[in-house]
Amino acid sequence: MTHSTTVLVVGGGVTGVGVARDLALRGVDVTLAEAGGLGGGTSGRSHGLLHSGARYAESDPEGAAECRAESTTVREIAGACVRETRGLFVQLSSDSADYFERKREACADVGIETEVVDGATAREAVPDLAPETERAMWVDDAVVYPSRLVAATAADAADAGARIHTHSPVVDATVTDGRVASVTVGGELDETVEPSVVVNATGAWAGDVAETFGVSVGMAPAKGVMVSVDYDGPHPVLNRCREPDDGDIVVPHAGETVLGTTSVPVSDPDDYEREQWEVDRSVTECAAMLPPVADADVVRTWWGVRPLYAPDEDGTDRRGISRGFTLLDHTRDGVDNAVSVVGGKLTTHRQMAETTTDHVCDRLGVDEDCVTADRQLPGADDPARLDEFVTRYDAHGETDSDVVAAAD
Ligand SMILES: Cc1cc2nc3c(=O)[nH]c(=O)nc-3n(C[C@H](O)[C@H](O)[C@H](O)COP(=O)(O)OP(=O)(O)OC[C@H]3O[C@@H](n4cnc5c(N)ncnc54)[C@H](O)[C@@H]3O)c2cc1C
Repeated sequence: MTHSTTVLVVGGGVTGVGVARDLALRGVDVTLAEAGGLGGGTSGRSHGLLHSGARYAESDPEGAAECRAESTTVREIAGACVRETRGLFVQLSSDSADYFERKREACADVGIETEVVDGATAREAVPDLAPETERAMWVDDAVVYPSRLVAATAADAADAGARIHTHSPVVDATVTDGRVASVTVGGELDETVEPSVVVNATGAWAGDVAETFGVSVGMAPAKGVMVSVDYDGPHPVLNRCREPDDGDIVVPHAGETVLGTTSVPVSDPDDYEREQWEVDRSVTECAAMLPPVADADVVRTWWGVRPLYAPDEDGTDRRGISRGFTLLDHTRDGVDNAVSVVGGKLTTHRQMAETTTDHVCDRLGVDEDCVTADRQLPGADDPARLDEFVTRYDAHGETDSDVVAAAD
């Protein structure tokens, strides 16, 4: 069978569903095809930190400002997809005092509020913190449950008219006269789709999908491990206050604590070694901040692959319109009706989607404003309903499998 659609979004991670939601709410006819369940790529396998931006404040002020703004928006629209915990950047006695100061000043420059406390005060708030805690800085980090966020975003898109197809991989495409004329979708959809525009939102797989329409997208994926341990000491999100390194983030869940992560280049996001040293290193490094996790039982481990984009070395084109993510219009590659959106973070997915949708709407001549920042997701304040959406879209992911109710 063949069907026409105005926009075909390929990929049902947080970016793809965000784009589908934004397009549908602007009245654009949209079809989304996802190879597996929603969020089954990187989104459902992330750390689950809703970034205040403090982590990036000194290295990437623009990205940090985006996190600051978008973490506020996600809180407002996503209700029970978010758990308020606050965050603490912890300086141990072996960590650089200069780095702590640089971080604090950079946060102030970006408008991220901080509250500095001495080690004793930090340990009153979090008694299990390491005795070597010199001082710490409160920030506005939180925990986000990706399965709920992805599924509720898709549900809102569907309510606005988007067709969301899971277990429907794009397997081929035909390019005629410099346009993607048709896309072959296998699996449950099993159709040929004739789109006016294709949005490639396949994250770490974006290079493979772009190849089906004859375009090269230079992805440089990197894997990272997460280790969930049986430790329920109440604590905020903990970040080690030092240059980002392995094992420096600890995320609290209900009854478990998630430790991570590593960053190791991989050549294939579907085929990489899951190595024990990554698990051991994450536990050891996180235990330097929070010693009881060293002896806690490991409940589960999982890996995710970052959708990193490596721009051409000449740097003349394909640069993102934001440092946090990259929007590539493949007109420059000779394909007039396809874009790829890569990079970014779970925290900033809505902004990525807005920028992508603005661009696609310009190409289509659609003059409608974005409303996604001002509109709550369906079921936002009803965890049971959110979990129904997760089941509807087969969106159960590793990150929050201890929190989000399992399918019957
Ligand atoms: C270890 C790790 C920890 C992270 N922690 C955080 C964090 O704490 N906070 C944060 O904000 N961000 C975090 N991130 C980043 C964040 O998870 C990603 O940037 C984001 O989830 C990417 O979403 P995406 O939709 O672009 O990609 P994905 O979620 O990977 O979605 C792409 C989708 O495309 C699908 N696909 C692939 N090929 C095809 C095809 N041929 N046809 C159809 N569909 C296809 C895949 O199945 C996949 O579902 C983390 C990333 C990693 C790796």
